[in-house]
Amino acid sequence: MVVLGGGPAGAACALNLAPFRRVLMLDHRREPAPRIGESLAPAARRLLVDMGLWEAFLAERHAPCHATRTVWGGPMPVEAEGLRDLDGSGWHLDRAKFDGWLRAVATRRGAALVAPALVTGIHQDGAGWRLDLLLDGRSLPVRTCLLVDAGGRMAPLARRLGARRRVADRLVCGWLYGEDTHPGGGTTLVEAEPGGWWYSAPLPDRRRVLAFHTDADLPDVASTRCAEGLLQRLAARPFLASALARSGFTPAGAAGFCAAHSTTLLPAAGPGWLAVGDAALGFDPLSSQGLFNALYTGLAGAAAADRHLGGDAAALSAYAAGLQPIGDAYRSHLQAWYGAERRWPQHPFWQRRQTPDVAEA
Ligand SMILES: Cc1cc2nc3c(=O)[nH]c(=O)nc-3n(C[C@H](O)[C@H](O)[C@H](O)COP(=O)(O)OP(=O)(O)OC[C@H]3O[C@@H](n4cnc5c(N)ncnc54)[C@H](O)[C@@H]3O)c2cc1C
Repeated sequence: MVVLGGGPAGAACALNLAPFRRVLMLDHRREPAPRIGESLAPAARRLLVDMGLWEAFLAERHAPCHATRTVWGGPMPVEAEGLRDLDGSGWHLDRAKFDGWLRAVATRRGAALVAPALVTGIHQDGAGWRLDLLLDGRSLPVRTCLLVDAGGRMAPLARRLGARRRVADRLVCGWLYGEDTHPGGGTTLVEAEPGGWWYSAPLPDRRRVLAFHTDADLPDVASTRCAEGLLQRLAARPFLASALARSGFTPAGAAGFCAAHSTTLLPAAGPGWLAVGDAALGFDPLSSQGLFNALYTGLAGAAAADRHLGGDAAALSAYAAGLQPIGDAYRSHLQAWYGAERRWPQHPFWQRRQTPDVAEA
């Protein structure tokens, strides 16, 4: 089997299948891309246990996330403690370390990793596929009976095979990293404002991430594209600006701008291929469920691939059908979250989210 993409979803798929089948994982980057997205949901514990990774994950010493403090739907902060969750606390990850660790587990369990590798062609080859790979300037054919698209929200493989991405909105995110001189407890901070919403979380080693989310076509996006713009805009947020001042936050390190919209791949699997992670379902960061979804679909995708390779002709379509209720539940939760903020009904960012069918159309 060939897995295209060595992010969390691709690595989770590869590490679960490698003990039973031959797995080749390809990524066009040598190392995992530096990327924002550090909150790991408490329920991920169950998946890590199922994958035999729980003790090893704890040994990586990511920071616990004890609570989330939100200013959403009104001016007063509201705190939700991790203790109320049946799965306990979540985590604030060192994301590069987490992604690199999953890749390393996959190779230890027997998957072959080729990175950087560029796929320049995909051809049907009997009941399977032939890929043209570009490696060190040389073209190399690779044959496989099953392809897995784990290439992230652009679904690079599935789209070449004819699948369609349904994009639900135009959410984008501007972010920057920094350091806290007085790191407090592991609390995630979220604050809504007329043009969108803010997120900040403490990370391991006194680091902190700060991010603002708005829509790509709104004027608010101008202040989102660079660190200076973000910091100027932050100064007007009473709750978040004072919380970050208390923690002694100073910007340091990378800053960036990226897409953060919700996407659904239609279909999520076809003859001889399936998609996992963001390639199958791309989540709004407000849900903090993207990594959980990457691990879950990586695991479920590996089980479906094993059944398919063992002769079960319905395995891939059953996998795709299993993702539909997940997408439906995600959309209804997201609608409830955005619907809870009604202070700026005239602002297009909130107006669109309170009539989501119109936004999607
Ligand atoms: C702004 C923002 C904030 C987020 N915050 C959170 C959060 O707090 N908590 C959370 O759980 N989730 C969060 N997420 C979502 C989370 O980051 C993703 O769900 C997760 O990274 C998905 O993993 P993946 O493996 O599917 O895709 P990716 O992490 O995107 O990995 C895809 C891999 O495929 C490779 N690739 C891509 N194209 C090709 C190609 N053509 N050929 C070969 N390789 C290719 C890439 O190099 C990469 O290694 C956030 C997302 C955004 C945008």
